[in-house]
Amino acid sequence: MLRAGALFTTGVSARAGVAEPSKITALNIIARRRIYQEYHYYMAELISRMTHFPETIFSTMTRLAQERGAINLGQGFPDESGPESMLRRAQEEIARGNNQYAPGRGFTELREAVAADRGGFYDPETEILITVGATEGIAASILALVEPGQEVIVIEPYYDEYAAIIALAGANMVPVPLDENLRPDIPAIREAITPKTAALIINTPHNPTGIMFSLAELQAIADLAQEADLLVIADEVYEKFGFDGRRHAKIAELAGMKERTVTVSSAAKMLSVTGWKTGWVMATKEHIDAILMVKQYLSFVGVSHVQPAIAAALREEQEWIADLGRRIERRRDILRDALEKAGYPTYGAEGGYFIVADVGQDAEEFCLGELVDKGIVGIPVSAFVSSEVGKTRFSRLVRFALCRPDADIEAAVNLLVN
Ligand code: PMP
Ligand code: GLN
Repeated sequence: MLRAGALFTTGVSARAGVAEPSKITALNIIARRRIYQEYHYYMAELISRMTHFPETIFSTMTRLAQERGAINLGQGFPDESGPESMLRRAQEEIARGNNQYAPGRGFTELREAVAADRGGFYDPETEILITVGATEGIAASILALVEPGQEVIVIEPYYDEYAAIIALAGANMVPVPLDENLRPDIPAIREAITPKTAALIINTPHNPTGIMFSLAELQAIADLAQEADLLVIADEVYEKFGFDGRRHAKIAELAGMKERTVTVSSAAKMLSVTGWKTGWVMATKEHIDAILMVKQYLSFVGVSHVQPAIAAALREEQEWIADLGRRIERRRDILRDALEKAGYPTYGAEGGYFIVADVGQDAEEFCLGELVDKGIVGIPVSAFVSSEVGKTRFSRLVRFALCRPDADIEAAVNLLVN
């Protein structure tokens, strides 16, 4: 059992045993996250399944950047908006009165645009569901398709939402670390499968490492899923950004996989509108019907006025999206050079939004000390890890976001190399 006193030896007084997180300013950020965790423990109303989750690392590190006036290469969100035509269209939609509940599955126009963007692999009528961001798509999929007590394998390091939703579903998460070379560890995944395993979550291009799963790796995972009769949830929100000529490979399109794969994507990253909270789930009719059943009680429907705008952008702004990918890749090149020059070997960054660097020491201490003192905020990869192997294997890695403006990347480079 947690004891309040144990965490307050740094001088913060704990009135009635509970420190108000908003009043704690003097502590370092990780200690503060632990206090949030402790605070949650004392939140009598919070269900026990959630008490061991701290505040998300993204909120913590963005606040640190603001407090210290540091360049925020932590949280992954772009500072610029998406294509002009799309922004205008959303404004027009509001002006013309598209302000009430959207249809449950989303506007046909957007489902058709998503289907076309996916090369006609899904039927827009029955196999696509518009959600409140990929976040809701992932949550609704897990809650609809995983029974309490079942196991869900996630590849570690993993996006933090997976752990929280698996816990909310009353299921058990089984993290399988990437191998020493940051590649999916197929033998370890095979080993982790038990009769209780219901699903496996993969994410490519990967957050936080930026690796892209190769076709051979996806095929090996598909083989395991078919052998053990597993559902695969494929988080592909960074699908448009492959670097060095790499193309995003989709596990759902491998032979025999459509019927056991739920794929999730989003407008957030591909069109630089993280605030529009609009994503989509693509799967068989049977899976979509089940996921819709849960989704209707989470948010009822998606955001309305942005859907025709996103549909038009998917149809007409593919070149804008490709150009964004090229800009992120250029920033990857610049930041990677600077990190290497500063003596931090880099990994991943084959696609997506992120690069990781080995800082040669405990990454949490580095992020809270040397790095933020220099004026840069990055995220210790340990925030995406819970297994003992992972805690050691990834302890020296820091994630840097590549989606920041050129000026931020340039300023960070100067701070790193000078
Ligand atoms: N999955 C991953 C891997 C992410 O990085 C994010 C954050 N963009 C999401 C899902 C959530 O996407 P959205 O903003 O569309 O809810
Ligand atoms: N996906 C982004 C990241 O990994 C932001 C997610 C968030 O803020 N919840 O940084």
